[in-house]
Amino acid sequence: MTIFSKILAGEIPCHRVYEDAHVLAFLDIGPLSEGHLLVIPKEAKAQLHELSDESAAAIGRVLPRLARAVMSATGCTAYNVLQNNGAMAHQAVMHVHFHIIPKIGSAGLGVGWNAGKLDATHAGELVARMKAALA
Ligand code: AMP
Repeated sequence: MTIFSKILAGEIPCHRVYEDAHVLAFLDIGPLSEGHLLVIPKEAKAQLHELSDESAAAIGRVLPRLARAVMSATGCTAYNVLQNNGAMAHQAVMHVHFHIIPKIGSAGLGVGWNAGKLDATHAGELVARMKAALA
């Protein structure tokens, strides 16, 4: 059982901002900036690709509204939405969660973006493999 399941079960407290049948949003206990919000499905799945369409749709429906609330409450005009999957990708809590992180001056998410260059031949192969996986 993850710490987020315990929050959902009411076993440990959180600073709750929003709740509906499928989604809970609460303040991150270790904020990168003021207003750092976590949005989680009630469905207990570790990573995004495991999530049901129903939970995914419910989160997608409320993310923009929650982003507007974060902007309104903090006055921020820039923010990042971050969703980590796997310990290698910086996931610490193995229950799907979306971070909404205001960028306020130097506070907020620091991003390392080591861009490469897309090779056209390899791109074609990748697209074919992804399409096959989606079929
Ligand atoms: P991640 O690295 O994407 O797994 O992020 C996990 C996040 O959960 C971190 O930003 C933590 O500060 C946050 N967190 C962990 N425990 C709690 C808690 N009890 N209440 C609120 N946020 C938490």
